[in-house]
Parts: sequence; C-alpha cells; structure tokens
Amino acid sequence: MYQYEYKTLHDMMSQADKRNISLWEVAMHHEMETSEQAEQDVRRMMASRLDVFHESIEAGLGDKEKSVSGLVGGDAYRLLGAKAKLLGGLAHKAAVYALAISEANAKMFKIVACPTAGSCGILPAVMIAAAEELGTDTEASINALFMAAGIGAVVARNASVAGAVGGCQAECGTAAAMAAAAAVELAGGTNDEIIQGFSLCMKNTLGLACDPVAGLVEVPCVKRNACLAVMAVAAAEMALAGIKSVIPPDEIIEAMASIGHMMPVALKETSEGGLARTATGKAIAERLEKSMQNE
Ligand code: SF4
Repeated sequence: MYQYEYKTLHDMMSQADKRNISLWEVAMHHEMETSEQAEQDVRRMMASRLDVFHESIEAGLGDKEKSVSGLVGGDAYRLLGAKAKLLGGLAHKAAVYALAISEANAKMFKIVACPTAGSCGILPAVMIAAAEELGTDTEASINALFMAAGIGAVVARNASVAGAVGGCQAECGTAAAMAAAAAVELAGGTNDEIIQGFSLCMKNTLGLACDPVAGLVEVPCVKRNACLAVMAVAAAEMALAGIKSVIPPDEIIEAMASIGHMMPVALKETSEGGLARTATGKAIAERLEKSMQNE
C-alpha cells in the first residue's frame, strides 16, 4: 500500500485534503512512490514530455503536406494563418496546436500518447496554449501535467482510454477532460475547480463513437482533436466561474465505462459503423485499398 495511493478521483481529493496539498502533488508523490524515483527525476521525465509537446506542434505546423493517405495535413497551418473571427485567443491557439499535433501523428512524427496517439493533440494543445496566454512557467506546466496524468490514470483504471474498448469517448473524451483539468490548474483554480473542469468536459463527450475512416487515425480524429481542445477550454472556464457538475466525477467515469460496454463493436475502432460506413467513408477506404494493391 502506497502512502499516496488513489483509485478514484474521490480518493485523490481525499489525499489532497488531508495533507492540504494540490492534486498535482498527490499525483507526483504517487509517481515517485511507484517508480521509486526522486522528485527531481520524475519532474525531469515530465519536462521531457513537455519538450515533445512543443516539438510535435513545430513538426505539425512546419509540414504543410498531406499525410500518405491524402486525407489530412495542412489544416493547422491554414487555421494559424486565418484571422480568428469567432474564437478567443486561447481557444484559437488551442485548436491550431491540436490540429498541428494530430497532423504530426498522422504523418508519423513524434508525439506523446496522452492518453493515446489518436487523442494526442488535445492535452498538449490546451496546456501549451494556456501556458502561453496566461504567462505561466515550465514548473507550472509540469505540475499540471502530473495532475492530468493522475486523473487520466484513474479513468484508465476504472473505465478505459482505448477507442477499441470504449469508443472515442474513452480516448478523445478522456484527453479533453484531462486538458480541461490542466487548464484550470494553470489558471490557478482550486482542487475542486480542477475536478469540476474534468467533470464538465468528460460528461459532454459521453457516447462519442470511434469510427475512423479506412481504419486510419485521421478522419474524424484530427479535427476532433481540435474541436475537443476548444471544448476543454470552455469546460475549464465554466469550472473557474464556480459552475459545478451535478453528477460527481467518479460516477461520470462509471457512466463512461457503462456506455462503452453497451456500445456496438461497429463503433469501437473497427471502422464498421458511423463515419467509416458513410458513402464517402466507404469510397475512401476502397480507393486506399486499391492504391495499396497497385503498389
Ligand atoms: S475516432 Fe477512434 S481512432 Fe479516432 S481518435 Fe477517436 S478513438 Fe481514436
């Protein structure tokens, strides 16, 4: 039994409350205990993940070409160059960065799976956009990343973060909820506000199908990352304003697991339903299959 053990978000909050510390401290100490590493070592490891976040954004924005399938690519650069007409600065930046990282993933550039490769754009995009707009330092981002990782581990333990198991609610839904929590942390929110940010975002992604066209993590994945990054910012803003989720966080995670179990296999990364089986989705799959046969 570890001193900083937590299996639920309620446990995580209790650990923080009894010591009067932040959620990130609970997650960091738990990581130190389980990995048997010193604080400076686990923080260095997290800093290296942050470095990759930045590298992925640069790689995605720097390469305007299409992916091998021709389905995605160049949209991060396009959105960056377009003057925002509707989104505020932070949300617009988060959408650009999420597109950039997801496009980088589609082109096999280096990314951090957080929690998965398909959802890799959301958390880094929101965290880096928030840090830049709020003017917070690297240490604050490391703290936020520990907290988000700790929350993500709870979801993985009690539900799933795999599209093949729980649909896209498990992948991109979890990523967005982690991102909302991280944004609240970076904005100086309380532990309760962080958990509310997570809750408001997680419950609004419930039921999201995993239906990638042609089995590629490109359509709808890349643009979904950008849209959910913006949703994460909206959830964080609501939480910081004191808005609370009626359904408690651990019950939302339970609901996500339950929906995942009920979801048909056709909507769990098999490309047998949803967008993958639209007329256009099927035509793309056939075209790509033929081009592979001709190679
Ligand atoms: S649609 Fe499926 S493959 Fe694409 S990001 Fe969501 S869970 Fe991953």
